[in-house]
Amino acid sequence: MIAAALLAEVYAHARATFPAECCGYLTATAVVRCTNAQPTGAHPIAPERGADTGFVIAGAELLAFVRAFDTAEPPLVVYHSHTNGRAYFSSVDQAMAEGPAYPVQHLVVGVTAAGLTEAAQFAWSAGERAYVEISRRPSPSQKKRKAAGRSRTRTIVWR
Ligand SMILES: [Zn+2]
Repeated sequence: MIAAALLAEVYAHARATFPAECCGYLTATAVVRCTNAQPTGAHPIAPERGADTGFVIAGAELLAFVRAFDTAEPPLVVYHSHTNGRAYFSSVDQAMAEGPAYPVQHLVVGVTAAGLTEAAQFAWSAGERAYVEISRRPSPSQKKRKAAGRSRTRTIVWR
């Protein structure tokens, strides 16, 4: 379970960088925002993509990320956003993360111009040799709508 306060910080980051994808990672107590280095062409397998459809952590931030595994506050979850509003682990996400490349889970946040839509968390499965979805979060407004049993209008205000 990711603490609500940390999730809120990730959501704020995703909204702030839209229409570009945001990226970063979580430790047990903090959100570390990273710069999406996609425009620099640093992506190992999809350098042609723009920051609206790809992300890569590179340079000094990548070094700090790797070094953090040897500290008391190691990275636990790497996060990034999808600006089509859909939270899924793409084939490129899978290819970048598999191994697993780092001992982390992944969080993907769907965001559109209107705000947050959904989020999903993925963990490495040794059996499937792939990252698999372990939890999914619809927006609180969607939950509320379901509870109230009314209005099919999609309200996308997610805090
Ligand atoms: Zn992705």
